[in-house]
Amino acid sequence: MGKQDKAKAKDAKRAAKLTAPDTAERRAVRPAGQPVKVIIAGAGIGGLTAALMLHRRGISSVIYEQAHEVREVGVGINTLPHAIKELADLGLLPALDAAGIRTHELIYMNRTGQIVWREPRGLAAGFEVPQFSIHRGRLQKVIHDAVIAQLGPDAIRTGRKLRGFVQDEGGVTAHFVDSIDGTGSETVRGEVLIGGDGIHSVVRERYYPDQGLPRWNGVMMWRGAAEFPTFMTGRSMIIAGGMGAKLVLYPIGEGRTPDTRLTNWVVNVRVSDTPHPPGKESWSRRGRLDEVLPYARRYEIPGFDVVSLIKSTDAFYEYPMCDRDPLPRWTHGRVTLLGDAAHPMYPVGSNGASQAILDARALADCLARAEHPYQGLLDYEEERRPKTAEIVALNRKGGPERVIDEVEKLAPGGFTDVERVLSHDERKAIVRGYAGKAGFALTQVNRKAS
Ligand SMILES: Cc1cc2nc3c(=O)[nH]c(=O)nc-3n(C[C@H](O)[C@H](O)[C@H](O)COP(=O)(O)OP(=O)(O)OC[C@H]3O[C@@H](n4cnc5c(N)ncnc54)[C@H](O)[C@@H]3O)c2cc1C
Repeated sequence: MGKQDKAKAKDAKRAAKLTAPDTAERRAVRPAGQPVKVIIAGAGIGGLTAALMLHRRGISSVIYEQAHEVREVGVGINTLPHAIKELADLGLLPALDAAGIRTHELIYMNRTGQIVWREPRGLAAGFEVPQFSIHRGRLQKVIHDAVIAQLGPDAIRTGRKLRGFVQDEGGVTAHFVDSIDGTGSETVRGEVLIGGDGIHSVVRERYYPDQGLPRWNGVMMWRGAAEFPTFMTGRSMIIAGGMGAKLVLYPIGEGRTPDTRLTNWVVNVRVSDTPHPPGKESWSRRGRLDEVLPYARRYEIPGFDVVSLIKSTDAFYEYPMCDRDPLPRWTHGRVTLLGDAAHPMYPVGSNGASQAILDARALADCLARAEHPYQGLLDYEEERRPKTAEIVALNRKGGPERVIDEVEKLAPGGFTDVERVLSHDERKAIVRGYAGKAGFALTQVNRKAS
């Protein structure tokens, strides 16, 4: 038995002991009638959703966020029906409709715009809830506003960066400092600490000090959004290109006039063979037109002027496409990980925010069900860790976008009949196979809803 397995077995034994009826220890941990208090590090989509989910189950929480205010940072993301179902259950559908676009269809194309695969999405595909294409910051704001409305203004403490924590049989003590000057420390005691603190998680680092930098696949992503004439249905998403380079286009909000949309674009290009990402200061660096335009010019999407969209974007950013290896465990006693802190993954297949939302639901259910936080956190990990590890692995292979990789490999110069390059069944197996593994196949989501 390895070191990690031994530690896990020890936790399970301790949980079993503490969940035995009427142990003095359990009474000491949670006196009758006193709600569990959960400390959440990070007010990202994962941490905020966790607070709402816990609140629904009568579990109180406080979120500590290093940013001094929760601003609308980032660009577009897609949130899939299985995650939207969770947000809809929290009453957020009207706010999501005001903030984003209900995705109608997804079209995979080659570099010259020949269609490889086209499928309806969200309601159009028969789901009971939509898929949303939305600005990441607006989605975060929708959930943030719901936390403030439901838990009160003190539920989110901004400008507080998690510096360290210790745990004992009775709880966790977490230490926060002012994120600008490192002063103004605040110490808080809770029953559980959730590390929802993203890909550079301090909580994760504490248990895996040798993990090193995130793993880069050598792909640089330039991402931006600008107001642009509506294309196709006004709710269509295009992913074009192939192996080393891709273009992604989708609207994420209404425009100022009925015939425009806030249109999100991503240009992905493999620019390096090294697995070491550029320095941390280069994450989210302002992108440069002279760098991205030569790549953008490689695409010929009928009826869509990619270059002019990019040129009309005020500010756009570049991000290295990074993830981390799946962990052998997330939970250490009263401390666990959630969202990108637990399973950062390449942003293919629209799963980053969606999986963080699913984590939040599972965590809240497990904590609410368990007699002791140890058991709740272990149950949560057992439910979510294998599933998310599989998605990390699938995304490394290209996720559903592998369908255009394969077609480009077989027909780099284009095709007259895609069926003769890769059959419908083969294309379907790639795209729908991914959906099944990531838990958003139609039957999975609608069955859960019924
Ligand atoms: C600024 C930003 C912009 C992003 N933009 C995009 C985008 O455009 N498209 C996309 O697909 N994905 C984007 N992402 C990633 C996407 O939001 C996540 O993959 C997904 O939503 C999962 O969210 P999460 O809550 O687990 O992590 P995150 O969204 O990373 O949130 C983590 C939160 O924890 C806070 N935090 C970090 N360290 C500490 C600490 N020590 N103490 C307290 N708080 C801490 C961070 O400030 C952040 O608010 C972005 C993330 C961030 C932080």
